Amino acid sequence: MTVTHAIEADILRRQDPQLADVLLAERARQSTTLQLIAAENFTSPAVLAALGSPLANKYAEGYPGSRYHGGCEMADIAERLAVERAELLFGAEHANVQSHSGSSAVLAAYAALLRPGDTVLALGLPYGGHLTHGSPANFSGRWFDFVGYGVDAETGLIDYDQVRTLARNHRPKAVVCGSIAYPRHIDYALFRDIADEVGAYLIADAAHPMGLVAGGAAPNPVPYADVVCATTHKVLRGPRGGMILCGSDLAERVDRAVFPFTQGGAQMHTIAAKAVAFGEAATPAFKAYAHQVVANARALAAGLAAEGLVVTTGGTDTHLITADPAPLGVDGRDARGRLAAAGMVLDCCALPHGDARGVRLGTGAVTTQGMGETEMARIAQLLAGVLREETETQKAREEVRELAGRFPPYPA
Ligand SMILES: *Cc1c(COP(=O)(O)O)cnc(C)c1O
Repeated sequence: MTVTHAIEADILRRQDPQLADVLLAERARQSTTLQLIAAENFTSPAVLAALGSPLANKYAEGYPGSRYHGGCEMADIAERLAVERAELLFGAEHANVQSHSGSSAVLAAYAALLRPGDTVLALGLPYGGHLTHGSPANFSGRWFDFVGYGVDAETGLIDYDQVRTLARNHRPKAVVCGSIAYPRHIDYALFRDIADEVGAYLIADAAHPMGLVAGGAAPNPVPYADVVCATTHKVLRGPRGGMILCGSDLAERVDRAVFPFTQGGAQMHTIAAKAVAFGEAATPAFKAYAHQVVANARALAAGLAAEGLVVTTGGTDTHLITADPAPLGVDGRDARGRLAAAGMVLDCCALPHGDARGVRLGTGAVTTQGMGETEMARIAQLLAGVLREETETQKAREEVRELAGRFPPYPA
């Protein structure tokens, strides 16, 4: 049925027991702990099947109908399906589904619209900007002149007045909106207005909320942004990878920025799996999933606040929560380690105020498992219990194992 089935079917175990054991142990880890990392999810068995398919063997440089290799008939059909489904799902004139990752998609968006040395306005990294939004350790910070806007230290909300002022003062060639840690909806219309005032492109890096957009549970950046970048593996629940959406006016520039400018051969098994995921995301079941993801995040945020954590912005509109555990006597980094020992896997993150680190959680994966608000409330209690008293760890670990066992991510 799936790759894991193939492992059990002994193919891999017989040939390479060492690696098979690693994969089985990882499956056990994923199904006995809680995946609260906001960027993670469980893809369906159908997506895993496409990833493990013979399209993994195929070279397909170029685009459907104009490839550099022979034998691309099936690859062309698979990619056309992925493109058409993405365009329909998000209401975009053009989709490019070849980006190997979210970061590659952002690189290609910059390559399509900018020249090295251009000024770009994006959310600063201490406030939740991604590496590709101007980190000095990343190509973006090296090749472009990034100016960072922030969030309000009190409310945690994007300071749109500051965005406008910085845009007026720096006249950027592009404005980027999107974050790895922003729990609220982004006002794309307002960003469009600011970009228009200074004649800048608007790039939405919607890697996190794009799955919610697909399910109608978050606003769609496509009508507002010149280029939308996204990942396919976060709430969208597809294979690891990226995609780019844009109007037909920019289609050719975007396509050429992906291939041949920043990438070589397309990963056709991943593109096939993207097509499967887009098909799934167009169903009523996915719509219900996306709304449940948000309901669960709200329940989890409320539970954490009730336990004394300081939830950034006071709650969430999305799948994502950031919170300061300081009132419980730990910072985010210690919290991550302690919670991992109790089987609750999450990230630490920067917080809008001060230097202390907080925790970042998401409900994409646990919602795929079928958990609801009742389970979220209990998870908040377990989490806070472990942070308050380290001696609670073993007891919490047992309850986490029991909870995860009741909601298996894959059929046994
Ligand atoms: C996840 C994410 C990315 C990068 O995706 P990768 O697939 O890890 O390269 C880029 N931008 C934002 C806003 C993200 O959340």
